[in-house]
Amino acid sequence: MAKRARIKTSASFSTIITLILIISTVIVFTVLLFLSYESMLNKASNNAKIAVSRNSMVIADSIHEALLSSDDPSMITDSDKYQMYNICKLVSQNFEGSIYLTTEDGYIIYDINPDEDYLIEMGKAISSNGDVVVTRFDEEKTFISCANNVQYTSLWVVCVSNLDKGQVVSEFNSVILYPAGIAVLFAIVLFVLAIQLTFSPVREMSKTISKVSEGDYSVRVDKKYTDKNNLRSVTSAGDIMTMAQTLNEMIDKLENQENDRQIFISSIAHDIRTPLTSINGFVTAIMDGTIPAENIDKYLELIKQEVNRIRVLVVSMTEASSLSHVDPDVMEVFPLNDVITDVVDNLEPQLREKNITCEVRLSDDPDAKECYGEAQQLCRVIVNILSNAIKFTPKDGKIIVSTMPNKEERNVEISIEDSGIGIPEEKRNRIFESFYKVDTSRTKEGFGLGLYICKQILAGHKQTIYVEEGKELNGAKFVFTFPMPPEDTWDLI
Ligand code: ADP
Repeated sequence: MAKRARIKTSASFSTIITLILIISTVIVFTVLLFLSYESMLNKASNNAKIAVSRNSMVIADSIHEALLSSDDPSMITDSDKYQMYNICKLVSQNFEGSIYLTTEDGYIIYDINPDEDYLIEMGKAISSNGDVVVTRFDEEKTFISCANNVQYTSLWVVCVSNLDKGQVVSEFNSVILYPAGIAVLFAIVLFVLAIQLTFSPVREMSKTISKVSEGDYSVRVDKKYTDKNNLRSVTSAGDIMTMAQTLNEMIDKLENQENDRQIFISSIAHDIRTPLTSINGFVTAIMDGTIPAENIDKYLELIKQEVNRIRVLVVSMTEASSLSHVDPDVMEVFPLNDVITDVVDNLEPQLREKNITCEVRLSDDPDAKECYGEAQQLCRVIVNILSNAIKFTPKDGKIIVSTMPNKEERNVEISIEDSGIGIPEEKRNRIFESFYKVDTSRTKEGFGLGLYICKQILAGHKQTIYVEEGKELNGAKFVFTFPMPPEDTWDLI
């Protein structure tokens, strides 16, 4: 249920974002369209006003000029009337509207392109004397008129035109509305696509997280959202891709941790169950008399060994969990060469038992002679690795222990190479994991904790360890580093 709810939340979130973007786009475009329409209407209205005003003035002036130049300016002759008519006719060619030549009381002498609706405008225009009059007739018609007096006469020139809203609308539609509409549709399609593309990796991640939270560590965010070279991932934002990659890495780690935890638990269970089964068998046999009285001591000794084995396991586990942190108070400078020599001397009995030669090649460089850290723990690393070398090297074999300073990294590299069976390449990384043994049939001793403990101790000192195939003896070669003392001696105080 919870899973479904989460996925649904993610889906509805993307829908909400899409809707918000679409609605805001539509609102912005609508406002812009409205403003554009208003501006077109104003422009058309201004043009009409200018046209009626200018034309009525031009005609009036032209008639006045014509009358002045006639034979008898005080009389309007037929020739004058003819000239007046021609003037009106000429101007009307560039004017979309009606032109009237009237007397002061509205008697029409001439009309060009007359319209019945305009007649009422004439009186208003004459009484406004040169000012433009705008009359809204109905939704479609708005009349614009202007009248000018022909100087020194009682004649008036009246120009009337209709502001054709239908024409403005059709012009607005073809110039702005249709292109803008197509652009809005296109923008919406792009928005929806972009949102879908952006949110699909988020949805995928959400689904993956839900599955992981249910304990399914096999799921991963699809490669198309994490692979830079994938065409689909090009469309998703870089940081979302990084997020998806990080999520996959996190699940990898969780899966590994979960596997480790299961191996850890089953290893502990196995390593404790085996000696406990033996102890239980021996005690039962002693109690029911299956083991004769004279052999009891021998079996008690075996029980003691098994109990000791459990004790060693518990101590190792407890130690291993606390080794990755080094207490600065116990850090000290110690002579590395002496420590190595002592460890080899102490392991002499085991070496002799298998007739193994141990060659120690210690560097003469003064920088390789002293190290800095928790001496006892670092000594333990050498003991563990050298003990393993002896354990996995057959009789009459050879071991080489050598040191080399790395001044740049401020550490001393120690390598322990043996002529033993070596470690297969694919298992070299895993041998540092807890309870890991290359081949459980190879050795019955050990819990697979020795190298894990070494790695923890070295990690606590910020040092590294790895294993490779030895070039000289062809067995395993463990290489690890110990820190050199700090250069600034004040750090040691
Ligand atoms: P254990 O206590 O079982 O020896 P370690 O952690 O010390 O556990 O070693 C883990 C495993 O690594 C061993 O079981 C063995 O299989 C392998 N190993 C360690 N050192 C060597 C070596 N020198 N040569 C071959 N295999 C080794």
